[in-house]
Amino acid sequence: MILPGATLGMLGGGQLGRMFTTAAQTMGYKVIVLDPDKNSPAGIIADQHICAAYTDEAALTELAQHCAAITTEFENIPASTLAFLEKRTVVHPSSSALASTQNRNTEKIFIRAQGIATVPFVRITSRDDFADISTQIKFPAILKVATFGYDGKGQIVCEDVQAAYEAFDALGQKECVLEQRIDLEREISVVLARGEDGQITAFPVAENVHINGILHSTTVPSAAAETQQQAAIEMAGKIADGLDYVGTMAVEFFVSKQGEIIANEIAPRPHNSGHYTLDACKTSQFEQQVRMLCGLPAGSSQLISPVVMINILGDVWGNSQPDWDKLLNQPDIKLHLYGKREARAGRKMGHFNVLADTTDLAMQSANTVFEDIK
Ligand code: ADP
Ligand code: MG
Repeated sequence: MILPGATLGMLGGGQLGRMFTTAAQTMGYKVIVLDPDKNSPAGIIADQHICAAYTDEAALTELAQHCAAITTEFENIPASTLAFLEKRTVVHPSSSALASTQNRNTEKIFIRAQGIATVPFVRITSRDDFADISTQIKFPAILKVATFGYDGKGQIVCEDVQAAYEAFDALGQKECVLEQRIDLEREISVVLARGEDGQITAFPVAENVHINGILHSTTVPSAAAETQQQAAIEMAGKIADGLDYVGTMAVEFFVSKQGEIIANEIAPRPHNSGHYTLDACKTSQFEQQVRMLCGLPAGSSQLISPVVMINILGDVWGNSQPDWDKLLNQPDIKLHLYGKREARAGRKMGHFNVLADTTDLAMQSANTVFEDIK
C-alpha cells in the first residue's frame, strides 16, 4: 500500500486531474501534475507542476523519480508514455488498457469480444469503404473521427451515403467510424473502481442528458428499470475485467427504444457523469481513483441523497461572470469551478450538484438555478 505522505503523479492537468489532486491532497498525499499548459486547472493547485509535453522523456523520468505511483485523467496520453513510465514506477491504468480505448474502432471491437453489444458500425479508412455500406448499416448514421474526439467534436450526422462521403472529406479523410444512429430511450453510464485484486466497486447508475453531444445533466438514481441498471453494471464490470483495469473508469451506454443496452464508449479515467459522487456518495470517484492507485481498499460507493448534476459551460458567461450569488444562496446546491482562465462556448468550466429528497425536486431546483445564473 502507498500511504499518505507519498507523492502521486498525474498525467494531464484538466478538471479531472484537478479533482483527483484535491482528493489526494485531502488524504495527505502530494501530487505532481505533468501538463504542457502552464495554467492548467490541476497544475495550478498541485504541489508541483512539470510543464512539459507528454512525450518529453526527461520530464517523464523526473516525474517517475519522484512518484510512488502515476495515473492519468486523459485517454489521449500516448500509450508509449505510459509504457515508458511503467518501466520506472507503478502506473495505473496500464498502457495496454489505455491503448484499447484510444481508437473508437478498436474500442468497439474489444467491447464486442467481451460479448457486449455496440451500435452497428463500419470502420472507414478510405472512400472505398462506403461502397456497399447500405448492406452493413442503416441511415441516418453518424460519422465520427476514430481518435481524439470528445464532447461531440469530430462528429457529423449523415442522412444518406452521399452525405457520408461529404462528411468523410470534411473530417479530412482521417480514420473514422460510421455508426448507425440509435433511437434512444435514455443514456446511462456506470462509473466503477477496480483494484489490483480484481475487486470491483460500482457507483449507482447515472442517467445522462446530452445537448449537442456534450453532457448537460446527470440524475441519480436513474429512472431506468432495475434489471437494465443491473445489466449495465455487469457489462461495465466485464469490460473492466477484460482490460484488467486498475483505477476509476466509466462505460457510457445507450438504452434503445426496444430496451436494448448498448455500450457506447469507455472512459479510462473518472468521468463527467460521476461528478455527482463528489457530494452525493460516501466516497467520490476521485477518492476512489486515489485508493485504487495506492492499493487501498475501495471506499463505500453508497448514495447518500438523490442528486442532479448540471454542467456549467463557457456559454453561460456571456460578457460577464454568471450570477453565482443566485446559486450560492441555495443551501442544498454545491458549486465546483475548475479555475479555467478563459470561458469559451462549449468549454466545461464547472458543474453543480443539487441534493434533494427526490430527483424530481432536484431537477426542478437545478433548472431554476441554471436559468437564474445565466
Ligand atoms: P464523445 O466522445 O464526444 O462523448 P459519443 O460517441 O459519446 O462521443 O457521442 C456523444 C453523444 O452523441 C452521445 O452521448 C449521444 O447522445 C449522441 N450519440 C453518439 N452516437 C450516437 C448513436 N450512434 N446513436 C444515437 N446517439 C448517438
Ligand atoms: Mg461520450
